[in-house]
Amino acid sequence: MQDVWHFMQQQSWFYLLTVGLVSLCIGSFLNVVIYRLPKMMEKKWQEESRIILGEDSENQSVSDAPFTLVTPRSTCPTCSTQIKVHHNIPVLSWLLLKGRCAYCDAAISVRYPLIEMLTTVTSLWVAWHFGATLQALLYIVLTWALITLIFIDIDKMLLPDQITLPMLWLALLAAAADITIAPVDAIVGAAVGYLSLWSVYWVFKLLTGKEGMGYGDFKLLALFGALLGWQSILTIVLLSSFVGAIIGSIQLAIQGKDKSTQIPFGPYLAIAGWLTLFYGTALIDWYLNFLGV
Ligand SMILES: [Zn+2]
Repeated sequence: MQDVWHFMQQQSWFYLLTVGLVSLCIGSFLNVVIYRLPKMMEKKWQEESRIILGEDSENQSVSDAPFTLVTPRSTCPTCSTQIKVHHNIPVLSWLLLKGRCAYCDAAISVRYPLIEMLTTVTSLWVAWHFGATLQALLYIVLTWALITLIFIDIDKMLLPDQITLPMLWLALLAAAADITIAPVDAIVGAAVGYLSLWSVYWVFKLLTGKEGMGYGDFKLLALFGALLGWQSILTIVLLSSFVGAIIGSIQLAIQGKDKSTQIPFGPYLAIAGWLTLFYGTALIDWYLNFLGV
């Protein structure tokens, strides 16, 4: 293992090739997580509410068949045929099948290969920028988590604790293991990240009676605070409003005015935090310069 790691540090092409191929397969798995994790959570909530309400579980229509990230095997949503392994090769299968199911010809969303390519490109960017280091590996895992969070939030307005919390602990441990920043900055960063959005949420709610964010957003910013330190929180929040304004106006231009569509804040926060991994120092310098400090 030590030898392989050493070889990767010497031969960057081998490192990038490995990261590229692994992330392509992970991208395929992320598609599964994005689709199944919210369904698994909904199933659990239904079961829990049945227990709380004391209803007879035998009379319920909710299926008791196991539904996890690995079972049952993936099927075509239209014809329910089980998807064969050779029809499940990332990006390539979609292209060869011309975006259609091999059995019933139903269209397969272009989102699947796009998420696989997005995972690969962003992971390669991290690998190229941070080299063959433990920090790069941490940021690559973070990138996978963020892509999953972004698409679940778009689909369901939800940032699952099952992803944000383990990443938060991982970020704190990485600081403790001297991989990222000083542990004090990380711990304070996690608290400041959570509390800053939490306060905005309550002020906004008390003033307007509306909820502009969810608790998942606070946890996501706590994660970035733990990774990048409390010094980065303001940059990330400002950058996320900037990203939101850009994406919002693009959406408005393409889809036209539709005020009823609720746009989750999580994706903007995730994109802003991810960009701050690379350009945080430059952004803070620019910002302080701008203020004339
Ligand atoms: Zn089909």
